[in-house]
Amino acid sequence: MNKRALVLFSGGQDSATCLAWALERYELVETVGFDYGQKHRVELDCREALRGAMADPKWGWSGQLGDDHMVNMQALGAISDTALTADKAIEFNAKGLPNTFVPGRNLLFFQFAAAIAYRRGLEVLVGGMCETDYSGYPDCRDNTLKALQVAMSLGLDAPMVVETPLMWLSKAQTWALAAELGGADLLDVIRRDTHTCYAGDRTHWHDWGFGCGACPACELRAQGYRAYEENLA
Ligand code: ZN
Repeated sequence: MNKRALVLFSGGQDSATCLAWALERYELVETVGFDYGQKHRVELDCREALRGAMADPKWGWSGQLGDDHMVNMQALGAISDTALTADKAIEFNAKGLPNTFVPGRNLLFFQFAAAIAYRRGLEVLVGGMCETDYSGYPDCRDNTLKALQVAMSLGLDAPMVVETPLMWLSKAQTWALAAELGGADLLDVIRRDTHTCYAGDRTHWHDWGFGCGACPACELRAQGYRAYEENLA
């Protein structure tokens, strides 16, 4: 495909899998990360190692991997009152939504990404949002992102396609997609170099990667990996 893409790349499992997916498809793939004062900002440190690993010639993607962009969005952390951006315990509201939900986060990320894509001549935005095994974040929903695609394409007067390859995959299927794209080697890179844990724990090693093993993000990741392995068995 002769299109050019910008991947919303946090350094987590989902966005790393999306980066590999995009590198397999598009002639040029740039990446963008956002620093919004997340407590687990260690995820941002993972980005460089992941980009380096995916530039390895063995996957044939090094020619497609383009520039990386980092956007300072401290203002989002400053106006949010969440367990991801302030020192507070993770809790769930009456609707079951955890207070790790940062209101407006994905809406803002996509709009900043679109502004970069517009300047760089990139027409596809790729994000790892998913509404299958997810925390119920309303800004991860397919309809939210489809509406955003329309609003951005109109507001920029330039086609801005939002691709979410993980939208209908379970977490187990996301691990399987990584294996499909880059075999056991890519699975190892994603286990070792991506970060998911909300507590920012990169000292405790599990077969699914580093993490505290107890936060909702670790639980989703661990459950998904176990289901992936069981499907293989
Ligand atoms: Zn954790």
